[in-house]
Amino acid sequence: MNLLSTVAQDTGAKREKVVVIMGPTGSGKTKLSIELATRFNGEIINADKIQLYKGLDITTNKIPVDQQNGIVHHLLGKFDSALGEVTQAEFSSLASSAISSITGRHRLPILVGGSNSYIYPLLSAQFDPNVFTSGLVSQELRYQCCLLCMNVSPPVLNEYLGKRVDDMIDSGMVDELAEFYESKIHEWAPDVGLRKAIGVPEFERYFHMKGNGQLREEALFEEAVRDVKENTYGLARRQMEKIQRLRMGGWNIHMLNGTTAFMMLSEGSNKWLDAWKRDVVTPSFNICGLVLFS
Ligand code: ATP
Repeated sequence: MNLLSTVAQDTGAKREKVVVIMGPTGSGKTKLSIELATRFNGEIINADKIQLYKGLDITTNKIPVDQQNGIVHHLLGKFDSALGEVTQAEFSSLASSAISSITGRHRLPILVGGSNSYIYPLLSAQFDPNVFTSGLVSQELRYQCCLLCMNVSPPVLNEYLGKRVDDMIDSGMVDELAEFYESKIHEWAPDVGLRKAIGVPEFERYFHMKGNGQLREEALFEEAVRDVKENTYGLARRQMEKIQRLRMGGWNIHMLNGTTAFMMLSEGSNKWLDAWKRDVVTPSFNICGLVLFS
């Protein structure tokens, strides 16, 4: 593990320190961000392009306030999706202002999210909106970064993601989506912002046809749930592919292996938290300490 090369590849243009937590959806980025922010006096900047918007809190898996441990969160649920989409350039400008203001208050900025196409232009010294298709990754970073990635073996992660969708449905996801559908927000701005959240397009047919017979309704509901699960697995896979491209392009991303903890969680073992601390939290504290503070 080459801990110091991340520092070496920085340009020096800006020397602010930033912890970055990358990884697929559902892999524990949010939980880890709270642990790191608590340990290192940090504030969190959201880098999930869908969680930027107000609304659909269950569907988009926003961290509830009572789980935030008093940590300040930036760019989380701040924008009105009906007014248009936050572009990559706007995100970069907002997030870099947040980094400066957090640093100015002598706290540590922690960037967390799965939207690699927003993370890359923010961190990279050379803006290339097509980086994930061109494959030409710039190694120069604008900040002194500690790059971390949650990694969970795909079959283990998918099992967890499937259960997470069931839990989201039990927690009121369908009512939330029904309200969104009825508010017609989706008609004002098609394929923009929240309208793209996994769950919105998948449940559209169900809401549209609802009331046309019980059997048909049940079949459409099952189909929507199945599509949400499949599209979530696909999202996780694509997010990891993008992270692998950045690694192959020279980004020194430190992988944290959450597989054992997730396996134990799925099996209902109450020892999962020990594995989480051993395999994820402690290594992440050590890596951040070495990369940013040694
Ligand atoms: P892409 O270029 O594929 O949009 P990206 O890196 O910009 O990739 P991702 O975060 O991978 O953005 O999101 C891609 C898509 O995944 C979103 O447009 C949305 O459909 C879905 N998605 C992402 N995050 C969420 C979320 N929190 N809740 C629901 N759906 C999400």
